Amino acid sequence: MTNKLSMKWDLDSIFTGGSHSEELTDFIEGTEEWIEKLNQELESFGENKTLDHLIPLLETTREVRARISEISAFISCLTAQDVTDKQAKQLVGKRNQLMAQVQKLSTTFSFSLAEVTDDTWSNWTQDKKVEPIAFVLNELRDEARDKLPEEQEQLITDLAIDGYKGWGEMYNTIVGTMTVEFDGEELSVGQLENKLNSSDRSVRKRAFEKFEQAWHEKADLFTNTLNHLAGFRLQMYKHRNWEDVLQEPLNYNRMSKETLTAMWDTITKNKPAFYKYLNRKAEQFKVDKLAWYDLEAPISTEVQEVKYQDAAEMIEKQFRSFSPRMADFTNHAFKQSWIEAEDRPGKRPGGFCTSFPKSKESRIFMTYSGTASNMATLAHELGHAYHQHVMDDIDQLNQGYAMNVAETASTLAEMIVADAAVEQAETKEERLTLVEDKIQRSVAFFMNIHARFLFETRFYEARKNGFVSTEELNQLMLEAQKEAYGDQLSDYHPVFWAAKLHFHITGVPFYNFPYTFGYLFSLGIYAHAKTDQENFASFYDALLQDTGRMTVEDLAKKHLDVDLKEESFWQRAIDLCIEDVEEFIKLTDK
Ligand SMILES: [Zn+2]
Repeated sequence: MTNKLSMKWDLDSIFTGGSHSEELTDFIEGTEEWIEKLNQELESFGENKTLDHLIPLLETTREVRARISEISAFISCLTAQDVTDKQAKQLVGKRNQLMAQVQKLSTTFSFSLAEVTDDTWSNWTQDKKVEPIAFVLNELRDEARDKLPEEQEQLITDLAIDGYKGWGEMYNTIVGTMTVEFDGEELSVGQLENKLNSSDRSVRKRAFEKFEQAWHEKADLFTNTLNHLAGFRLQMYKHRNWEDVLQEPLNYNRMSKETLTAMWDTITKNKPAFYKYLNRKAEQFKVDKLAWYDLEAPISTEVQEVKYQDAAEMIEKQFRSFSPRMADFTNHAFKQSWIEAEDRPGKRPGGFCTSFPKSKESRIFMTYSGTASNMATLAHELGHAYHQHVMDDIDQLNQGYAMNVAETASTLAEMIVADAAVEQAETKEERLTLVEDKIQRSVAFFMNIHARFLFETRFYEARKNGFVSTEELNQLMLEAQKEAYGDQLSDYHPVFWAAKLHFHITGVPFYNFPYTFGYLFSLGIYAHAKTDQENFASFYDALLQDTGRMTVEDLAKKHLDVDLKEESFWQRAIDLCIEDVEEFIKLTDK
């Protein structure tokens, strides 16, 4: 990559004209016609359930889904690149409306499939046009059979807009109004959060106290939003006769409870290895025990700046040693300006990758300011983009993969780059920083995410018996954190349940364990890659292509020949993380 790379993305190659794009307007109108066609075909299928009616219906479904994703991705890019773009906000409304329509049709489709008799169904699934997508169609059928009658489910969907999603929006609205005064500056809670990782302990301690205080002040409001959001969910589960709150997230992530249990049990057994790290870090900070606000603080003040161009070259080079295809794809993404990385005001915070199935392109959004963690984010998002790229060639209906496997591709990409960075470190100091960075990630996935999972599981149990007060929520969180961190910290973050957006997301319940799954699953793949680097590229592509059409247990069995319900797989993955801890201990030995 010799030419200077652009740090701004090109959206015009998808639809020209930004939020005022006429091409987009035409495309949306075209999509509305497709939705109408889908509606009619669904009606005919409902009246006359034959294979001849099903085939064209599937074809239309593919087109509608691809179009909706294309529109949705474009609008996400518009709202992210300029938070003041009013026209983009209008488009969000339009998108939500289209998505609600399609959601309704999709529910109707599931229920129609569920009505087909088992005998007929087993005949159909042998048809060469149905067989390759049988897994996802079976899922829709089973789901419908597990739910209430269609009319009631449609009613739930309608009521959920104000009675469920509304609480999530309310949460965002309140957070958006929160400001905190810190050192004479008026900061948003997000800005204050950045100060929590200051290399100056007294600064981060003060920032943390302010941060906790700010959330405590509004806690009663969030107690309301969280209780109602959870209450809606539990009522819905109760009427559907779903006893376990984990049923929905497990189904969505296509994984079994045994797998989840094996994962957490193995992590719990291995925690003492990470206590060693926490204690050593405490020694470095000259304190008895680390506080919550020390966990992500750097031990070294020596920070290396990585220029964007250098980061791009490094990522491409490291990907190449694993998979030339991944490297070529990355090069293409940089050269075609698929990445918005510029550090400028008016952009929304955070990073994401979104894909355009019709154009067969992706876009990555982030703010690159030259830190090692920015480079990691860039690699992470490119991992997501590559995953989608590999999916572009397969049936649209088999492209739906859940969060746990989505985070596998991204974490693997991040890991390849992080490991190479450690290898190339020029000084002991730099090596220490980079190794610690890796361990921080393990601690986050094994302890922080575990605390979220423990809290959420217990909160939902408590909520079944009635409203859970602010004091009880704080207490539940404190207990979960103490347990997850093995009582190794001096201070915890009891109001974390309010401060963390993820508990208030309505799109997916239990927005936590899939991260840990993705992290460890990608470590399993990484270990496999190291034993057979030569064939890695084709092995990896084949695995990614299957992520939308089987359970995670089958995926692991087929490609890695391992059983996710057994602890041995998880142990091997965690062992790799423990190696980092050992290196950290060695590097900090006096
Ligand atoms: Zn990700």
